Amino acid sequence: MIKDNLLKVQSTIVSPARLIAVSKTKPVEAVQEAYEAGQRLFGENHALEMRDKHAVLPQDIEWHFIGHLQSNKVKYIAPFVSLIHSIDSLGLLQVVDKEAAKNDRTIDCLLQFHVAAEETKFGLNKEEAQALLPHLTEMEHVHIVGIMGMATNTDDEDRVRADFKQLKAIFDWLKNSYFANDAAFRELSMGMSGDYMIALQEGSTMVRVGSAIFGARNYDL
Ligand SMILES: *Cc1c(COP(=O)(O)O)cnc(C)c1O
Repeated sequence: MIKDNLLKVQSTIVSPARLIAVSKTKPVEAVQEAYEAGQRLFGENHALEMRDKHAVLPQDIEWHFIGHLQSNKVKYIAPFVSLIHSIDSLGLLQVVDKEAAKNDRTIDCLLQFHVAAEETKFGLNKEEAQALLPHLTEMEHVHIVGIMGMATNTDDEDRVRADFKQLKAIFDWLKNSYFANDAAFRELSMGMSGDYMIALQEGSTMVRVGSAIFGARNYDL
């Protein structure tokens, strides 16, 4: 079941875009099944859950942190996380830098932007990003490699597409204004089970797909 779903989703994603299989709330057996079907990139949104899964699952899995990250939880994932999609404040980025240094590594991060209609979604706006960016030179153990965002949760396809276009415009603005000479700044993480096909059409390089692979979640942590 998971394997069939995974292969179906994977078949719709064309390189260089990549699929992050969002395994939050799902048991390690489910992750293992997707792993055996060839999936190596997994997304989680709780630090302790991710730490515990990392400890028991194959070590060549790339773990992506996709949810709101509390500063006091960074230490649990800093030793191994591949990419943090959800940097939404300077304070959080400074903590990631410090914990990365302790682990003698550099952690790749995305800046999360808020474009959706919902008030509750975390993320920066352009002004907040502009205030944060000058501080990057003070941090040697984080590397900003792109941005992440979510579209409004709606059936209105035009609204969803407009949100993704806005995220792409923010990406292009940052790339041209701040990261023109950094080839690593190239990731645009957008698209979930319900809207990833639209996201890909609008330039997504990473889609984060959970329920379309693993089935509905009983609850959202
Ligand atoms: C849960 C989650 C997803 C995956 O959602 P699905 O609708 O199950 O595909 C993607 N991105 C973030 C940030 C999430 O929290």
